[in-house]
Amino acid sequence: MKADEINDLFEGLEDLGFDDLENVSVYTKNTEEEPNKKVQERQQTDFLYDRKIVCPVCNSNITVRAVKSSSIRVVSRDSDFMIYYQDPSPMLYDSWVCVKCGYAAISAQFNHLTSTQTRLIKEKICSKWKPKAYEAIYDIDTAIERYKLALLNAIVKNAKSSEKALICLKLGWLSRLKNDNENENKFLQQALEGFIQAFEKESFPIAGLDESSATYLIGELYRRLEDNTNALLWFSRVLCNRNAKNKIKDMARDQKYLITQERNEEKTDEQLTADSTTIKKQGLFSGLFNWSK
Ligand SMILES: [Zn+2]
Repeated sequence: MKADEINDLFEGLEDLGFDDLENVSVYTKNTEEEPNKKVQERQQTDFLYDRKIVCPVCNSNITVRAVKSSSIRVVSRDSDFMIYYQDPSPMLYDSWVCVKCGYAAISAQFNHLTSTQTRLIKEKICSKWKPKAYEAIYDIDTAIERYKLALLNAIVKNAKSSEKALICLKLGWLSRLKNDNENENKFLQQALEGFIQAFEKESFPIAGLDESSATYLIGELYRRLEDNTNALLWFSRVLCNRNAKNKIKDMARDQKYLITQERNEEKTDEQLTADSTTIKKQGLFSGLFNWSK
């Protein structure tokens, strides 16, 4: 837009004392985006801090990055408990990695290792690890790499099913942030298998979930993976559980309703197809019967 056109927008305001509006533009120009991005990055680092810890595997002094709790802002939630945060998302920083030896785990599990697990990680992870440095701010791909490392460590140390399932669930969520449907489903499927195993073998809470929340999550993972029969079964279990909180019962009811609605729509579609076939058939045979009239 030319300067005189912009000036036209404010025609009439001169009399009110605004006689210097020639250079006023309504919208910020694109050329200003670059410095804005830098400011955003600087702000993101302001929300992060480095924590000094000792790696329980190699005993090195290391630093792990985390989001300051005062900076965490929840934006929304998905029906499988995924939380969307305002940047920076704490989910991107929750897999801690020792860059010296390759040991990795979700922060809550990082310091909980038995001597057998330490030995296994030294044998199967540390012996192969090539030290790596990470950027100050993690993007989704960096986070995925770090969670995959945590999953590999969890497999090597024979971690509980719930620990592996939670890592897989977060890998599914991170894939969702990238709109990577194929990998999301792959990791949600692994999470589902792990939560079912944990449900059968471990005592509650599993991965921080009480019994009814874990039951609901299993149902919801089945639903997302398009196994509605099993999803309905697990949602019904939530609704029959006298100890389940109202909130989780409401969620189970909502998701059950979604499936029923979907099935009704499918039935309507099938009915419409069937009806049109009947009409065609009637048309086909109507001529045959007309002779009797
Ligand atoms: Zn280490």
